[in-house]
Amino acid sequence: MRILVLGGTTEARSLSAALAKGGHAVTTSLAGRTREPVPTAGRIRSGGFGGPQGLAEYLRAEAVDVLVDATHPFATAISANASEAASLAGIRRLCFYRPPWLAVPSDRWTSVSDIRTAVAAIPPDAIALLALGRQHLEPFASRSDVNFIVRAIEPFVPSFACEIVLERPRVSPSEEAAFMRERGITHLVSRNSGGIGAYAKIEAARALKLPVIMIDRPPPPAEPRFESVEALLQAI
Ligand code: NAP
Repeated sequence: MRILVLGGTTEARSLSAALAKGGHAVTTSLAGRTREPVPTAGRIRSGGFGGPQGLAEYLRAEAVDVLVDATHPFATAISANASEAASLAGIRRLCFYRPPWLAVPSDRWTSVSDIRTAVAAIPPDAIALLALGRQHLEPFASRSDVNFIVRAIEPFVPSFACEIVLERPRVSPSEEAAFMRERGITHLVSRNSGGIGAYAKIEAARALKLPVIMIDRPPPPAEPRFESVEALLQAI
């Protein structure tokens, strides 16, 4: 089959690799935000489609048989577009939906519904690690009473005073804990992304007994949704 995987996640890469190995003609679509994306099996295309109509046109033009939405749980616009475009083009659409992280008893989470509430939840004089993409930082500009640390893979010019550390999140919880200790972090602000890749910082905060301001998920995309790569592959 000809399969389009809407990607930008670790699981999308696993899906594309497994589908290509199974003999399908796979294309992975990326939004084009990262200059050097991680290599992925099959073909890669990059950049927006121009809304659901644009995506539907692409699906028809490329004679795509199945659309797989394996985008990030906070990427709500592309997921809504995927549902609409698949019905416009009259093809199947399946969604990989990563389960959220769940707090364990020793976690010190304050769950908030969105970024604006997260901004208000940070106490004055905190040293807060913002584990968020650069496009989500602007609301924190109103908190000049907080010291912010942001990690970024690529350099950028922030619109407010914050310290930018150019490095990828560290892989192990102990390395993440070392980073938090070195920088004197008192609070972690994170979205509940789920998955293994970004979990080390949550485990590190647990080990250091640091408060975490956890931004809850937006509503999930439409069914059918699969919580594991294997289950989605089986459905295909
Ligand atoms: P979004 O707000 O849902 O999408 C905004 C627009 O970007 C979409 O309307 C679409 O433009 C384009 N777009 C998004 N994902 C695309 C894809 N995979 N292929 C082609 N176009 C795409 O998305 P976002 O939150 O900015 O995320 C962008 C990408 O980064 C996604 O692929 C997502 O999986 C990945 N990602 C996101 C996060 C996160 O925290 N949100 C974290 C890790 C990775 P058109 O309407 O013009 O088609």
